Amino acid sequence: MPKIYLYNTLTRQKEIFKPIKKGVVGLYTCGPTVYNFAHIGNLRTYLFEDFLKRTLEYNSYRVKHIMNVTDVGHLTGDMDMGEDKMEAGAKREGKTAWEIADFYETAFKKDLLALNITSPSQYCRVTDNIPEQIALINKLEKGGFTYKTSDGLYFDTAKIKNYNKLSHLPLATLKEGARVEKNPEKKNPTDFALWKFSPVGKNRQMEWQSPWGIGFPGWHIECSAISLKYLSKNLDIHCGGADHINIHHTNEIAQSEAATGKKFFNYWLHGAFLNITGGKKMAKSADNFLTIDNALLKKGLSPLAYRFAACQVHYRKPMEYSEASLKQAQQGLQKLWEQTAALGNKTGKVNSEFKAKFLEAINNDLNLPKALAVLAAVLKAKLKPEDKLATILDFDRVLGFNLHAEARELKAAKSVNTAELFPAAIANKVGLRNEARRRHDWVAADKLRGEIETAGYLVEDTATGSVIKKK
Ligand code: AMP
Ligand code: ZN
Repeated sequence: MPKIYLYNTLTRQKEIFKPIKKGVVGLYTCGPTVYNFAHIGNLRTYLFEDFLKRTLEYNSYRVKHIMNVTDVGHLTGDMDMGEDKMEAGAKREGKTAWEIADFYETAFKKDLLALNITSPSQYCRVTDNIPEQIALINKLEKGGFTYKTSDGLYFDTAKIKNYNKLSHLPLATLKEGARVEKNPEKKNPTDFALWKFSPVGKNRQMEWQSPWGIGFPGWHIECSAISLKYLSKNLDIHCGGADHINIHHTNEIAQSEAATGKKFFNYWLHGAFLNITGGKKMAKSADNFLTIDNALLKKGLSPLAYRFAACQVHYRKPMEYSEASLKQAQQGLQKLWEQTAALGNKTGKVNSEFKAKFLEAINNDLNLPKALAVLAAVLKAKLKPEDKLATILDFDRVLGFNLHAEARELKAAKSVNTAELFPAAIANKVGLRNEARRRHDWVAADKLRGEIETAGYLVEDTATGSVIKKK
């Protein structure tokens, strides 16, 4: 198998990737907290993880991919204080926490589909894995790693060595950072809740019996319990956004290794943020909350333009959001679809020299900007069109630009009446509608059909794609 180099946050080095079991990779990616829509910053992290997964598959690994869905226990404050985000969402929308979870989990899956992000082998809801979390906390209690306070059962971080092995932060700095939210009952500022009690005299919507009292799991325990349950023999790669390094992933490692006595995951990969102008991190606050819907669809841009834009920046470098750069990405992608359509229908042989270059780029810690340059070089090279087509479609297994389907749609639209050129605005709407249909978003597809028809064109859906004609 070719060598894959990945930057491991644990060692702060690029390392040659070796799975625990030959040919199989266990991949755990921290999933969404389903109390609101995902913003395109969150989605940048899921895109990076998708490129990683596709790269592993391109290298012929079988990937067991597990993603949790946080539907309880993630509090508004990072240090185990504040309100449960799910209950806050329920209050905001006048629904139950369960309804909120259902709604936003569905919305999240729709976003992934729009971005052509492959589904995990399994989604695991936190509320479906409560006994496993209680069992893990039990183990920690038996091992002497816990203590009780008035609001919950806590993990004592002073009981383990190397608490900071992932963050590489001096303990003094961690203490400093934790001062923002003080909990006088904690023995050490870095200690964290394993189980929180329901407030006295108040019923929460989501709460369970436990050996310590009625309550709900702390945020970090879910990822330990779920990954140990589903990937017990394949604890290879664990991913998330860079904000997870110092707290969430650090705590996952601390409690998992304390409970099992064994190393938790071997490789820890983190994606850098999507920032809005001025280097500010995108967050779920009102003024700064860009979604697929408001940042792309409502601007007439394809969600895949964002995928294309994410490919242009290495995953460990911050990415700056701007509407202009998304528009540029849309133009670049549209051109690529057109170039693919122009290569015809016949697929020849994948060019081995270009394939080797592409593989070298992606296997070097997912160097996708370089992989895109290899793709551009293929299109410029003196190769037979059918071999070019075979080569770029092969690359698209990793890039996920839907080259095959989009080129087919373009050809179908043009073949109806080649003499007629549709205005760009109409062609754009047809493209967006095709995408909406592929992600089964019938509401958006029907809305776009209406807009195309109002502009004087007819849409016909055929077996090979939709075609447009002047009325
Ligand atoms: P959450 O739904 O808040 O649990 O976050 C889901 C994922 O998005 C996590 O892996 C976060 O680290 C990641 N994330 C949050 N904000 C950003 C951002 N601005 N850019 C990239 N990733 C982010
Ligand atoms: Zn997690």
